[in-house]
Amino acid sequence: MEKQPGRIVTDSMIGLKMPDFARHSERVATVLGHNPSPFTGPGTNTWLVGSSDRPLLLDTGQGVPIWIDLLDTALKDLCRRGTIDRIVLTHAHVDHIGGVKQVREKYGEHRVLKMPWPGHDAPAGGPLEEIGHGATVRAEGVTLRAIHTPGHAPDHLCYYLEEEKALFTGDVVLGAGTTVIPDDTGDLGQYMDSLQRLLQLDLETIYPAHGPVIRKPKEKIREYIAHRELRERQVLDALADHAPHEVMAMVKKIYADVPEYLHPAAASSVRSHLKKLGKEGRVAEHEHRWSLN
Ligand SMILES: [Zn+2]
Repeated sequence: MEKQPGRIVTDSMIGLKMPDFARHSERVATVLGHNPSPFTGPGTNTWLVGSSDRPLLLDTGQGVPIWIDLLDTALKDLCRRGTIDRIVLTHAHVDHIGGVKQVREKYGEHRVLKMPWPGHDAPAGGPLEEIGHGATVRAEGVTLRAIHTPGHAPDHLCYYLEEEKALFTGDVVLGAGTTVIPDDTGDLGQYMDSLQRLLQLDLETIYPAHGPVIRKPKEKIREYIAHRELRERQVLDALADHAPHEVMAMVKKIYADVPEYLHPAAASSVRSHLKKLGKEGRVAEHEHRWSLN
């Protein structure tokens, strides 16, 4: 059922090829946000969800000009020349809400549903309607249930598509690579808890915000949990050596096989681990140096 017209975009980092737009099921199609980077892969996936000519639009990309034209083409090609119903957002990061303004400019005022994050929602460029955990959003042929999944961002909602037992995971689970847990606004403890709760769902498919569709959802979520557990052990091992340690020294050791330009992001990840371990009383900080308790 995969329909892949238009150009194919190759991600320079991981060699992933993603179509401009594609239909994945009777109810779900995607339009690529065209904002490739080391952290967004080939770009943000924006989703058309619904079986009629008025689908919901789930996430909007970063505001790249070509995206709104592709959205228009996809609506004509995949959705019987339709138009979008409401906009539903996973979280406030700019590569997810940056295109809301473009939709408003092209199609007029639209209802935009999102869990509020005071001080971070301005890039949407207009009023938002509040939704939270357990809320349902319906359109023709589809029922989406919001699941609060903080950790990557405090306002993060995943959406469970009941008719397909599918989950739109936003940035909580990605089709390639791992997600960043920012050490300032993120929370690794909450993130691990979110993954454990997602594992309890009856799942057949994951539609992630970046990278390809995931057809073995439980395996992927378990892989994500195992990856963080491994990193946590590596952080603890690094501290066991010759404490106390500065974060960058730990990064050089743990991420020896990762290019240096990614080390600042790796440092953010290590700090997130240290923050979690600090809350659990397992490590302590003194003048930017960390040691085991
Ligand atoms: Zn994000």
